[in-house]
Amino acid sequence: MRVEQLGEGEPNFAVVGSIHGDEPCGAHAIETLLDADLSIDRPVKFIIANERALDHNVRYTETDLNRVFPGDPDADAYETRLAHELLKEIRGCTTLSLHSTQSYSHPFAIVDETGPLAETICPHLSIDVLVETGGFVKNTLVGYVDVVEVECGMQGSKQATENAIELIREFLGATGVLSGPVETETSTVPVYQLQRQIPKDPESSYAVHVDNFERVDAGAPYATSDETEIRAEEPFYPVLMSSQGYERQLGYAADRSGTL
Ligand SMILES: [Zn+2]
Repeated sequence: MRVEQLGEGEPNFAVVGSIHGDEPCGAHAIETLLDADLSIDRPVKFIIANERALDHNVRYTETDLNRVFPGDPDADAYETRLAHELLKEIRGCTTLSLHSTQSYSHPFAIVDETGPLAETICPHLSIDVLVETGGFVKNTLVGYVDVVEVECGMQGSKQATENAIELIREFLGATGVLSGPVETETSTVPVYQLQRQIPKDPESSYAVHVDNFERVDAGAPYATSDETEIRAEEPFYPVLMSSQGYERQLGYAADRSGTL
């Protein structure tokens, strides 16, 4: 884990990149901004989290870091110990954590639930939508600190890194970390709430026939497993849905729960 602080004093803000080692956009964006000589009014921490997994271009080396929070300093698995270390670094910090996906090319944000944090930060970010996990995905970072996670674009793409740089700047602007004139452009953000996982049999091959965040009607075929069509039992909005992203799930089914 690489930790760099800008400014004097105990930071109340942090930016975390590459919790997943095959999502280099966060690390690259942080390196770019550390070289950019940012002019700041308030101290901030930049953290490149899973350097070991980054070196091998894998999601994790022993266990998924974003499924083992709060971690344990005495655990056998490297990422479980790292989760504990990372939480120690960012406790008390309003945090932006950068990810990327195999399912959606535009940036979107993920929070535990909509509240003052999301309301303060998210309208300033260049995001399409906000997703509320509602505690649905267990032991992820969003359950343990005030964090907005952003999915910056497609894994490994140059665009994801460019988006990550922009999102960090917007976050630092919204929190008053960056000094000087800050763009005040805000936008309305639609909010989706996760309802359930859409399971996947790791032995079968899948094709997904729907787009993320676009409503699937009851009865509509949304995927094919081997030769069999899978139809929606009830209407839903697909989130993080792709044939390749996860081993045991296609993604999530969400409801549209309002706007921010
Ligand atoms: Zn990730």
